[in-house]
Amino acid sequence: MQKLYHLFMKSFKDQKNVKNLTEQSKKCACKPGQNPMQVALDEAKKAFKKGEVPIGAVIVRDGKIISKAHNMREKKQNALLHAEIVCINKACKKLHSWRLENCEMFVTLEPCPMCAGAIVNARLSRVTFACQEKTSNDHILETILQSPRLNHTCQSVFDNTFETEASELLSTFFKTKRNQS
Ligand SMILES: [Zn+2]
Repeated sequence: MQKLYHLFMKSFKDQKNVKNLTEQSKKCACKPGQNPMQVALDEAKKAFKKGEVPIGAVIVRDGKIISKAHNMREKKQNALLHAEIVCINKACKKLHSWRLENCEMFVTLEPCPMCAGAIVNARLSRVTFACQEKTSNDHILETILQSPRLNHTCQSVFDNTFETEASELLSTFFKTKRNQS
């Protein structure tokens, strides 16, 4: 797994779009070079190394990253520990509040229904994802985030700047798993 991960990373080394990275950094008012989605991708890579489904998430407020996390389902043997949930949990602890108002999330894959529910309940204002779920034509994310049943709504944005890297990380992971079984 470790060897495959390094091979995968090597193939991406020269493909990063520096222009996009710089533009994104300005837009997010993060530290120079600290694009939130890049940080989420770094988290996803950590998950890959640990044999977890490679998904990473960060939460940003006022241009600053306040929490970052990756999927920990296997390590903790807990179905709830998707990257988004772990990230929300850390942000709530840091801000001493369950209301993550004026905060937004960047996540490497379109959130699942469980995480969409957590995102809207945590009052996040926006979630940006790097690659789409294969079944995303069911619009379940938007349905949950915009549900009139909840007294808050959250915007969702698909930003394809890091789509290739995020989706290939996932496909490489699942290919490796299939080959092992
Ligand atoms: Zn999820």
